[in-house]
Parts: sequence; C-alpha cells; structure tokens
Amino acid sequence: IDRVISTELEEEITIENHLRPQRLADYIGQEKVKQNLKIFIEAAKNRGESLDHVLFYGPPGLGKTTLAGIVANEMGVHLKVTSGPAIEKPGEIAALLNNLQEGDVLFIDEIHRLNRQVEEVLYPAMEDYAIDILIGKGQAARSIRLELPRFTLVGATTRAGMLTAPLRDRFGVVNRLDFYTKEELSTIVKNSAKMLEIEIDDQGALEIARRSRGTPRLANRLLKRVRDFAQVKYEGKITEEVAVDALNHLEVDTMGLDQTDRSILKIMMETFEGKPVGLDTLAAAVGEDSGTIEDVYEPYLIQNGLIQRTPRGRMLTKAAYEHFGVPAPEGKER
Ligand code: ADP
Repeated sequence: IDRVISTELEEEITIENHLRPQRLADYIGQEKVKQNLKIFIEAAKNRGESLDHVLFYGPPGLGKTTLAGIVANEMGVHLKVTSGPAIEKPGEIAALLNNLQEGDVLFIDEIHRLNRQVEEVLYPAMEDYAIDILIGKGQAARSIRLELPRFTLVGATTRAGMLTAPLRDRFGVVNRLDFYTKEELSTIVKNSAKMLEIEIDDQGALEIARRSRGTPRLANRLLKRVRDFAQVKYEGKITEEVAVDALNHLEVDTMGLDQTDRSILKIMMETFEGKPVGLDTLAAAVGEDSGTIEDVYEPYLIQNGLIQRTPRGRMLTKAAYEHFGVPAPEGKER
C-alpha cells in the first residue's frame, strides 16, 4: 500500500519501533493482560500447539501492537502485520493467510474496519484453519477448500463495540487494555530515555508521565520534545524544572488532555452550560463520531473524574470547571 507520511512521522514510527519492548517481562503495566497471556503462551508451548486467537482492545497508543510482537517473540514465530483498511478484497486476505507458516502470528490492526467479504474469509480460517475458494463461473462454479497452517490471529481495535459478533466470538482470548498509572508511565519514560541516551531524573520523568494522558505513545513523544528543549535551553538533562518549562511551552495540558478532550469539555461547559448531554448530541457538536468519543476520549475523562455518565446524559464535574479555572454553576444538578 501507498502511504504518504511526512518525514517527521516516519522518524516517529522508527523511534516507536525502536522503543517497543520485545519480551513480556519488559512490558510495563497491564498486569492482568500479562498474566493472562503468560499462562496461554506457556500452555500452548507445552502442548506444542499454536496459540489461540487473541483480541486486544482499548484506546490508541496503549500497547496493542507491541503486545502482538511480544506474543510472536514469546512463541518463537514470525509476525505478519496488516490492518483492516489495508485489506480490500477476499483474495488479499486469502493470500496473506496462505503465506503464513505453522504457528505464525498474523496481526490485524483496526480489525473492526475489515469489510464484510474479507471478514467472511476469516471465519473458517480462524475456526478450521481453512479457506473456501470459488473457482469457475456460473453453473460450473464450485468451491474448493484450502487447508491453512495453524496460525494465530491477533486483532487490535479501539472500538470493541464495532466488531461483529461472529468475529468477536472466534477469539479465544479477549483482553482490554487500560490507561497506565503515572508511576508506570514514569518507568516507561525512564526506560525510553535510557535507550535514546537522554539524561533524566525521577521528578523529570514523573512530570512527563503526569501529562501523558495515561498513554505510553504520548509519553515517548513528549520525552523527545522535552529533550530538544533541554538541549537547546538547558544543559541537556531533563529535570522537573526543565520538563515543566518545556511542557508549558508546548502547551501540554497539566492533565495531559489533548485538543479533542479540551474541546469536548469546553463545549459541555459553554454550549450546554454544564447540563447533561446525550452522546450523539455531544458528538455532533464536537464534530467527532460518537463511537470514537465513547471509546477513545470519554474513558480517560471519566477515569480522571472530569465527566460523569448519568441516566440523563454526560455531565461535567466540578473538577472539570476547576481544571479550566472557571467557577462551576450553582444548583442541585451537581
Ligand atoms: P497501540 O497499538 O495500542 O496503538 P503501540 O503498541 O503502537 O500502541 O504502542 C505505542 C508506543 O508505546 C510504542 O512505541 C511502545 O514502545 C510504547 N509502549 C506501549 N506499551 C508499552 C509498555 N507497556 N511498556 C513500554 N512501552 C510501551
């Protein structure tokens, strides 16, 4: 596939790949997911079988792709990477599957975006390790069954609710990824700093962690930008002072909120005056798809006590007003 990416993005992808932990033991946080995987991987290896199909879901940047790589490494097999939107025709997925070797991991990112016909090829592939191919036309058409090696499908999605039931049901292991704590992120930042040969102290790492929206991808990205700042304006080492100065300068929110987070909160505050608002109404006002708000943005805002789900809709909390330094409206609504 042809992808047009800027050099900056390309550099980011290179660094991202470079920073990916290769082993389960080096993967920080997500303890439940790790324990789960460890048991499944060990059991499969002991039986000499391929691993059951695994689904990871959760907001972007939390480590789904990284885990797919780790699963392949731990199983000692190859990893093939593709994504839902990249596979357009049934023949393409058939070819991908047919080229796998015994035990290999096929990783499909954004698996909820596979189209119907492609998805239908996956059903027998996942269940019986076989695909049905139609040959000939009209009256003479017949289907032949092609056996596949026993492979492991690892799917990732930010939108678990968008997966069709037949697809979801074919995953033996389903794991939800959660936002990271600031302690976990701070460990990730320090590990990344070591790999990138950046000097950083505990407080500096914690400040970056605090502002990373619970997301390792963002933590690594901020680390890089703070480093530039540290090198140009300071002596090169990232301390709390340097991190605070740099992040303020970069207009990174003290809670790590991004532009969409902020615009959701602002719209709730200003347009809806803090009153309960339905998801679809909110989505229309923000100009985002309601599922994305529900699966990508809202979880972080709820977890951090900035919005609440009520029977009458989403509502801002007092903490949200405090965060923007705006007095909360009075009333028994809250
Ligand atoms: P996703 O596939 O969920 O969008 P990725 O697996 O691409 O996220 O992770 C984004 C970046 O964050 C990667 O560069 C990886 O280095 C880092 N990362 C994610 N999870 C962890 C983790 N648990 N420990 C260390 N680094 C992580």
